[in-house]
Amino acid sequence: MELLEQMGAEGHEQLVVVSDAGSGLKAIIAIHDTTLGPACGGTRIWPYESEQEAIMDALRLSRAMTYKAAAADLPLGGGKGVIIADSHTEKTEALVRAYGRFVDTLGGRYLTTTDVGSTGRDMEYVKQETDYVVGLPTTSGGSGDTSIMTGLGVYMGMKTCAKEAWGQESLTGKTVAMQGFGKVATHIAHHLMKEDARLVVTDVFDEALDRARDMGLTVVKPEDIYGVDCDVFTPCALGGVINPDTIPQLKCKVVAGGANNQLLTDGDGETLHRLGIVYGPDYILNSGGIINAEAEIGRVYNLDRAREKTERIYEIMERVIAISKSEEITTAKAADRLAEDRLKAVQGIRRVYRAN
Ligand code: NAD
Repeated sequence: MELLEQMGAEGHEQLVVVSDAGSGLKAIIAIHDTTLGPACGGTRIWPYESEQEAIMDALRLSRAMTYKAAAADLPLGGGKGVIIADSHTEKTEALVRAYGRFVDTLGGRYLTTTDVGSTGRDMEYVKQETDYVVGLPTTSGGSGDTSIMTGLGVYMGMKTCAKEAWGQESLTGKTVAMQGFGKVATHIAHHLMKEDARLVVTDVFDEALDRARDMGLTVVKPEDIYGVDCDVFTPCALGGVINPDTIPQLKCKVVAGGANNQLLTDGDGETLHRLGIVYGPDYILNSGGIINAEAEIGRVYNLDRAREKTERIYEIMERVIAISKSEEITTAKAADRLAEDRLKAVQGIRRVYRAN
C-alpha cells in the first residue's frame, strides 16, 4: 500500500520527516489523531535499518498512543517520534536539542516524552528548545520515573481481572509469575507483596534476579516461566509473548502485565478468550506511564492527580470486561471498542457558530 493511502486508511493526520545535517539528526514524527487533544507519545531512539522501518514504527506506535490515551480518559491524542540513531553511541546533546527545535515547530500539536533509548535527562535538553515536552525528571519539576505509576496501574487492572476470574479482587494467596523483573515489575511486586501474593519471577539479567532473591521471591529460568503453576501470568519484558507456542504451557486464569503488544496476533486473544483466561489488555493496564506524564502538562506536576487517575484503571478494566461480555468479543477488541467509542463521541460534537 502507498504511504499516504496507508495513513488515510489508519486515520493518521501528519507525518513529519526531519533532518539536521549539523547534528546528524534523522527523525520521523507521526501524529495519528488529535481529536481528544495534542498528540502525545515518547521519542524512541533506535538504530533502524532503514527509513521505511522507522516510518512504519512511528505510524504504528502513534496509532497505539491514540488508543491508549483515549481508553485512559486523557485529554490527549496519539503521536510518536523516532530518531534513527544508536542511543548508546550516537546520542548527543546537539542531536537531541535539534530534535527539540523541530518538535517546537509543530506548535504544540505534538508533545514528546521518554521512550526506549531516551531518558529524562534527554528531555531536559529537549526542554531547552521547546515547551512541548513532558516526562522531565522530578528535579526539573517534572513527573519523573513513569514506571511507578505504570506498576500501580497494572496492579489495579490485575485486581479487576482477578474479580472476573475468582469473584473477588483480592490477590492474597495467589501465585503470580512475572516475566522480566525490571522497573515496572518491581513496582507491581511491591503492591502484590503487601497483599501476601506469592511471586515467581524470571529475568535474563543476573542483577535483576539477585534483587528478586533479596526480596525473598522465587526465581526460575527464563524458559520455565510460562509453565509455572500460577494464578496470574504477568509479562513485563517483551512483546509477542502470548502466542501459539506459549499459550499451551500457561496454567494461569489471568494474564495481566506491563509489556506492550503482548499478543502476537489477534488470534492469540481469541485463544485466551476461548480457554477462559481473563486477559487484561496491555495498553489499558500499562497506561499509568502516560497518565503520569499528562499530570505535568500545563501545570506543576500533580502526584495526587496522577495516582487518582491511575487507580481508575480498575474501573476502566471493569468497563472493558462488560463490553467483552455484552458484545461477545475478546477483552483486547473490547478495549479498542472503548477507545473508538470515545473518539467517535468527541468527533461528533456539533460545531456551533461563535463570533470571533
Ligand atoms: P526494564 O528494562 O526496566 O525491565 C525489563 C526487564 O525485562 C529487564 O530486567 C530485562 O532484563 C528483562 N528481560 C528482557 N528480555 C527478557 C526475557 N527474554 N526473559 C525475561 N526477562 C527479560 O523495563 P520496564 O520499564 O520495566 O518496562 C517493562 C515493559 O513494560 C516493557 O515492555 C515496556 O515497554 C513496558 N512499559 C513500560 C512503561 C514504563 O513506564 N516504564 C510504560 C508502559 C509500558
